[in-house]
Amino acid sequence: MEAPFVADLLKGFPEATPPSPQEVEDILDKGKELKGLSPGEAFKLLSVNDGEIRRLIGSVAGWVKERIYGKRVVLFAPLYLSNYCLNDCVYCGFRAGNREAKRKALSLEEAVEEARALEKRGYKRALLVIGEDERRYDLESLLKTIRAIYRETGIRILHLNAPPMEVEDFRRLRDAGIGVYQLFQETYHRQTYSAMHRGGRKRDYLYRLTAMDRAIEGGFKDVGIGVLLGLYDYRFDVASLIAHSWYLYRRYGTHAHTISLPRLRPAPGAILKSPPYPVTDEDLKHIVSVCRISLPSVGIVISTREPKDLRDELIKVGVSQISAGSRTEPGGYARGRSFERQFDIFDARPLEEVIEAIIREGLMPSLCTSCYRVGREGKVFTEKTLRGEIKTFCHLNAILTLKEYLLDSAGNGVRQKGEEVIRKGIEEIEDEGLKEELIRRLKAIEEGRRDLFF
Ligand code: SAM
Ligand code: SF4
Repeated sequence: MEAPFVADLLKGFPEATPPSPQEVEDILDKGKELKGLSPGEAFKLLSVNDGEIRRLIGSVAGWVKERIYGKRVVLFAPLYLSNYCLNDCVYCGFRAGNREAKRKALSLEEAVEEARALEKRGYKRALLVIGEDERRYDLESLLKTIRAIYRETGIRILHLNAPPMEVEDFRRLRDAGIGVYQLFQETYHRQTYSAMHRGGRKRDYLYRLTAMDRAIEGGFKDVGIGVLLGLYDYRFDVASLIAHSWYLYRRYGTHAHTISLPRLRPAPGAILKSPPYPVTDEDLKHIVSVCRISLPSVGIVISTREPKDLRDELIKVGVSQISAGSRTEPGGYARGRSFERQFDIFDARPLEEVIEAIIREGLMPSLCTSCYRVGREGKVFTEKTLRGEIKTFCHLNAILTLKEYLLDSAGNGVRQKGEEVIRKGIEEIEDEGLKEELIRRLKAIEEGRRDLFF
């Protein structure tokens, strides 16, 4: 199979000198057409250091986000299945060389218990996360776990962050109902990649880089890519990430479904104690802004690795999906903290508080899982999104899932505020037919129906 030679896509990159104000203006004008920016243009914007120009770029990014996705912010939680790992990534607490780590691979029953704990808190989507050690958690166990969670809990969609594999394995995961396959390249810079990954299969840069091609060949419509910020110069890594998404678009007609922008965090037992290329809060905001304009259709994910005030800021410049109330150790939701966590969490607010914060920002919290379940995936999703059609679905489904959350899981404090957001959200709908249908479905939810969506 042909490899996505990202280096080729990056050919013709300009030097990392900040562009002139006129160049920035021209690139932003192009960005406002909502068709995205080339990796070279993105690189130029990433090279901007001036605070005033960065703010201008941020305001265009906020505008793009609103045009494409409206006000919704999708919420999810990670579910760590196993922290056994044979790789030796210098930044990670799960690495094989960390002999102090308290290891755990959840049994099928324990995994279902975790999913139930999430469901009880109001989550509808979970991201399964797993270290790389087939002796402790093989594909068969993973498939059984996925089927059991769907069968026995109210979790409606499972996504997966797992090591790269072969086409047939991907096919089986897809058939078991995984929505998005997610994998981060960590860094696209080969020498840095070699230095950061000291042992195990993950040392193979190209096998990781080509994982999305195999996932798509195995039937996945939606894939999520990412870089671990702090390992190398973010301008190179983020422009490469954007190039990777354009590669997928050119080859398969679909952009990456999501990009994740985790920043390196201290992890117990990691060799790397601090990032070799630190990324400041302002840099991260700028990175999110540039990604939003460069890849308008792509979901941008920020996790609880980031502190709460910054997360609230990032939402305004283009983040469209966030995790909340996360635990990064296996068994963390149902049984509390007793095994090795992957990294420290910086936003420990429970789901309810995050929902309240989103409402406070005038945005719309969403627990929607609809697109994956009605075939609005891959190419279809990318095309609809670029035509500006997806936000209507997002808005309606955000309201329906918020209503369910308020009835089933929310405390009194947030209930009133949530009802107010729903009321305003209904008023904003211009199409009278849709508005009536939404009101009918909200009433059905009040009467006990669940899982209604557009
Ligand atoms: N083991 C699989 C892998 O490495 O792809 C999947 C799970 S891994 C637990 C998920 C991601 O967490 C990694 O891809 C990496 O980007 C991120 N990560 C690892 N250590 C981290 C740290 N110290 N701070 C922030 N993110 C980290
Ligand atoms: Fe293992 Fe993934 Fe951690 Fe690397 S990042 S040590 S592969 S769990």
